[in-house]
Order: sequence, then C-alpha cells, then structure tokens
Amino acid sequence: MADLTGPPAPLERAGIIAVGSELLTPLKSDTNSLRITDALNQLGIEVVAKAIAGDDRRELAAVVRSMLDRVDLLVLCGGLGPTDDDVTREVVAEVLDRPLAEDGDVAAAVAKRFADRGLEMPRINLRQALVPAGAVVLPNPKGTAPGLWLDLGDRAVVLLPGPPRELIPMLQRVAEEHLAARTGGRTLVRRIVGITGRTESHTDEALGPLYARWASADVRISATILAALGQIELHLSARGPDAGALNGALDRAASDVQAVLGADVFSVDGRGLEAVVGDLLVGRGWWIAVAESCTGGLVAERLTRVPGSSRYLGHGIVAYSNAAKTALLGVPPALIESKGAVSEDVARAMALGVRERSGAEVGVGVTGIAGPGGGTTAKPVGTVAVAVVAGPILRVRTLRLMGEREHVRYQASQAALDVVRRVLQG
Ligand code: AMP
Ligand code: MG
Repeated sequence: MADLTGPPAPLERAGIIAVGSELLTPLKSDTNSLRITDALNQLGIEVVAKAIAGDDRRELAAVVRSMLDRVDLLVLCGGLGPTDDDVTREVVAEVLDRPLAEDGDVAAAVAKRFADRGLEMPRINLRQALVPAGAVVLPNPKGTAPGLWLDLGDRAVVLLPGPPRELIPMLQRVAEEHLAARTGGRTLVRRIVGITGRTESHTDEALGPLYARWASADVRISATILAALGQIELHLSARGPDAGALNGALDRAASDVQAVLGADVFSVDGRGLEAVVGDLLVGRGWWIAVAESCTGGLVAERLTRVPGSSRYLGHGIVAYSNAAKTALLGVPPALIESKGAVSEDVARAMALGVRERSGAEVGVGVTGIAGPGGGTTAKPVGTVAVAVVAGPILRVRTLRLMGEREHVRYQASQAALDVVRRVLQG
C-alpha cells in the first residue's frame, strides 16, 4: 500500500498571542512578541498577526480560536503561572479539546525547584504540572512554568512562559528542536535602506518600477516603506532555501535603490545616520565639533551614542542664549541684532566659531525655533538654520519643520547630521 503520510507541510504563517492583563495597561509593553518574531523570521516563518489578551478565559479563548483559523503556527506567551489568573494552559487545552492530566515528571521538577531552596511546594503549583493530551513538555531551567509544544499535524501551537529571562532560552530550544525541521529548509533575510531628503510618497513613486521587477525576479523581494521621524526606511526581505542567494539578491536590490535615489540613500545596512557620519569622519581622519542652540546638545548626544565616537568628536557646545553664542563661539552681538538669533548668518558664525575653538576639521551650527512659543510670521515655529563647514566647504540650510517641540528638535538634529553626511560624501 502506498504511504500517503508524507512529511507535514512547512510552517509558514505564524500568529502570536501575548497573554497578561498588565500588557493592556500603559505601564507594561509586550516585548516578548518582538523576540518571538525575530526567532521565527530567522527560520523564514512570517508573523501575520499578533494579539494581546488579558487574563480572561473568554477573551483568550476567542482570540485563540480566531487566530487558529488563519495561521499554521500559533505562539502564546504568558499566563502559565500557578495562580488563578494564569489561564493560558487551560484555555488552549479546552479550545483544542485536549484534556489536561498531571504529568508526574513535571510535578517532580516543580517540587524539586522548591526543595532546592528549602521550601515546600504550595499545592497551587501543581497546576503547572497539568499537560494537555499529546503535548510535549518544554523544560524551563529558569523557572517553574514549563512550556508546551502541541503538534496538530500541519499546524502547531507553542506555549511559552511570560518572564523574558525564561522565555528567551526556551524559544531558542523550540526553534532548534521543533521549528527548524518544519520550515521546509527556508530562511528569511532582511535589509533596511535609510533615506533622507524625500517624502514617503515621492520615494514610493520613484521606486515603483523596482517593486515590479523584484516581485517577478527569481528571488522574490518584498518591500515595505515606512516614514520615520526625519527619514524614510525601506525594509526589504526575501525568503528561500539559500541564505547566500538571498543576501546576494538583497545586495543587488539595495544597489538598485541607490541607483534610483542617489545620495538620498544614507545607509543600506540598517546603520543610523549618526553611525554613517561617524564612519565618514573616521574614513577621512577628521574631527567634528558641534555648536547647538535649539537642539540643546541633541546632535552631540546622537553622535556620542555610537561606540568609538571619541575618535572624531571632541567638542559639543550648547549656546542657548545670545550671550552664550557670543561668549562661547564668538558670534558678534551686532550680527545677532541685525539678522536674528535664528538665521543662516548666525548658524554659520556658530559653525565657524566652534570649529576654530576646537581645532576640528568639521564645524556644525544649529539654531532654530522649537516652539510652541517664539514664532513670528517671518520665522514661524519650526524654522531652523543649519550650517556645516568642512575643509573649504560651507553649506547653510534653512528648514521649515513641522510638529511638536520634540519633533522639531529631533528633525533639526537629523538635518544637521544629514548635511554633514552629504558634505563628507562630496
Ligand atoms: P506570566 O507568565 O503571565 O505570569 O508573566 C510573568 C511576567 O512576565 C509578567 O509580570 C511580566 O513582567 C512578564 N511578561 C509577561 N508577558 C510579557 C510580554 N509579552 N512581554 C514582556 N514581558 C512579559
Ligand atoms: Mg501573567
């Protein structure tokens, strides 16, 4: 007789449910699902839906049922503790119609964890030894709640503990011991392209022809465009059996983007603008010094986020008042009087002043109106002047930025770093 039971279909589409009423408050965010997504993506498994459910049997049962209809792999985390509000195990057993029975080994392991600390096990901890019929127990070396793996044929359900220090090692083992064999041998590779100087829609329009080409290429590349503060991100991903071929295809796709967008692409490997600027400075062996008014040190803060920034940043001066601009940077009071503190002339004088005083090759000046007050008709809130001097080059820009104070300040820092980048890239 022919054997019709081939290997189960690969797991391709996953759903994640984070369980815990605290995750529905503003006080606690669900970080576990990001870890889980990362682990699944590395195996080429796409996360197509996520949900958060409180510690409530009816809610959780409804979310589990609706997701199970749509995914091959369902991962739940949290709610495996011993107390009454930990309902994940029982709800999943009920939805899947798998009766719970006490597992002697798990009960012994939980009891031992207490005994090792000289404690008697509270009876309620025996709930953690309840295992749905047919489930594989995932040991938890960092806590009492074991995880569970439930094979449903072409689908699977995984239950993981909530505390990240327990979840992370268990997730790793689930990936290696259960999931790796069920991916059809595929992985997922991602690339983030960083873009400045264009809006999301202009970028999207310019890249339209590339999307069409990628969609029909041998290695299919999917692209998602995201507008972040002061930059656009293009997330490229590809799935397939051969990581080398995927990386090659993404390299070519990133080059395609660069060919279309030119210098507006600042990074093809996920590096932030501050890191890109740092690498350019290291490449030239140059030092940078920054003089900041409205950003209050944010440009220097961002530059110093990058490890090793002491190789190129020595001076950052916050000159907030007019008097400070004169005393610390040598900006002539008459210039501030005639042009205004927020002006290209003052930004230029700040950049030249900080460069001269520091001995750096590159000087940056930023002055602007962050709001909400202080705007005028001629210079509304969001007016920012940025000046960069680098070697013989002097570049000055006036920007009209939108948004709240903190958004204006961040975008001003982004603009300053971006002018430096463009000047250094020639
Ligand atoms: P539980 O397994 O539901 O008892 O969760 C125990 C603890 O793990 C909670 O108090 C949280 O601090 C943490 N935790 C649970 N779920 C998450 C999650 N999705 N992301 C981050 N931390 C979590
Ligand atoms: Mg909980």
